[in-house]
Amino acid sequence: MSTQRREFLKTSAAGLGTVAALTLPGCATMGGGASGKVVIVGGGYGGATAAKYIRMWSNGGIDVAVIEPNPEFISCPMSNLVLGGSKDLAFLTVSYDNLSRRHGVKVVRDTAAAIDTEKRIVKLAGGNELPYDRLILSPGIDFMWDKVPGLDNADAQSRVLHAWKAGPQTVALRKQLEAMPDGGVYVLSIPVAPYRCPPGPYERACQVAWYFKRVKPKAKVLILDGNGDVTSKGPLFKKAWAEEYKGIVEYRGNYVLTDVYVAAKTAKFEVQYEVKADVMNFVPPQRAGAIARSAGVVTANDRWCDVDFLTFESVKVRNVHVLGDAIQIAAGMPKSGHMANQHAKVCAAAVVALLAGQPPNPTPVLNNTCYSMITDKDSIHVCSVHQWDKDKKTVLPVPGAGGVSTAMSELEGNYAFAWAKNIWADTLA
Ligand SMILES: Cc1cc2nc3c(=O)[nH]c(=O)nc-3n(C[C@H](O)[C@H](O)[C@H](O)COP(=O)(O)OP(=O)(O)OC[C@H]3O[C@@H](n4cnc5c(N)ncnc54)[C@H](O)[C@@H]3O)c2cc1C
Repeated sequence: MSTQRREFLKTSAAGLGTVAALTLPGCATMGGGASGKVVIVGGGYGGATAAKYIRMWSNGGIDVAVIEPNPEFISCPMSNLVLGGSKDLAFLTVSYDNLSRRHGVKVVRDTAAAIDTEKRIVKLAGGNELPYDRLILSPGIDFMWDKVPGLDNADAQSRVLHAWKAGPQTVALRKQLEAMPDGGVYVLSIPVAPYRCPPGPYERACQVAWYFKRVKPKAKVLILDGNGDVTSKGPLFKKAWAEEYKGIVEYRGNYVLTDVYVAAKTAKFEVQYEVKADVMNFVPPQRAGAIARSAGVVTANDRWCDVDFLTFESVKVRNVHVLGDAIQIAAGMPKSGHMANQHAKVCAAAVVALLAGQPPNPTPVLNNTCYSMITDKDSIHVCSVHQWDKDKKTVLPVPGAGGVSTAMSELEGNYAFAWAKNIWADTLA
């Protein structure tokens, strides 16, 4: 890895806030006089970051409430290590206490059930109503179960797991792997892109293989990918499967899953023959979290929400902003936790400016780094920088900025763990 690349990674691991923050013109005056009520739906990577930064950048002038049903934040990034067995759920779990105690964010443990964008009110499942001046939705993803009839019921979903929202399913899938006999086959089905975390499934294959290599050397990992080829860091993952996990991992592209026979543990595909598994892990096709539909902000393919990248305000509904995995991404922009954090900072700055009667920053810059753990210690990365293009009115990757690892290494593994600790602190401490 070049010195330049190493410096970029160190900066990006240690200073997740710097790119968005330093490029804000008028930073010194930012937040002066901003007041009003902001309601945020979802306390994940996008929502929690936006909450903290709106409070900080408005000098506490803006009231912020985050609605989140889960009692604690559980990170999807690094959750594949729980499947490998080198980490547990506690490692991924962070309290919401600092958001309230240090930053004065109201954390409301409830679910947003409906949104009245005319009256600017969020209705909660618990019965309360929260009025807003600006609403921020960062509800993550929901699964398109209707695409897989055999899994469109709760019993089937409790047996064929996705573990694509970290939490109880992560632990349950680990138990299925532990119970699988040596010599068994673990099948990982990947949906056609776009989906949450492009390299995530391939990292998962590595983590399960790492476990099998040590404990069940005759067991196999079979990746059945709906895409024609590996969608992220392809050569690096393929090298790991050919060398580190030789004889354990098999990759097959163009396997678009159409149904699952749950009792027979058999998957059916658009073209290929059926495949039987001992443990079946199905990552379903995805769309914006359901509450986005209630707000009327789903605009792209009945799945995702188009936004104005200067403010992350919906292109359709005024005063409603959308962040994270729920948005219709710009070219080259991944659906990642790091990117959701960056959306949140651009949006937080814009909301503070707008509520202070100022124009938003006209030249936002965002960055992304995605690490993938190949073993319990070694990692690879991909990183990119994305900048507003005023002619095309979108954000585009900056040519020559970013890149990928030359090879997996323990040094990158150290950076990956530092990245996780830093982003959890940046979001929630
Ligand atoms: C296995 C795996 C590995 C990954 N690895 C990485 C990685 O290494 N690096 C990386 O950058 N990204 C990674 N990601 C992707 C990352 O997790 C997502 O991109 C990120 O979580 C998106 O943030 P978000 O705010 O959009 O959604 P989330 O973080 O999922 O937050 C959404 C929140 O909204 C809440 N919510 C939903 N609906 C409602 C409602 N109606 N009312 C109230 N609350 C609601 C949910 O409970 C949830 O807490 C990984 C993902 C997976 C699955």
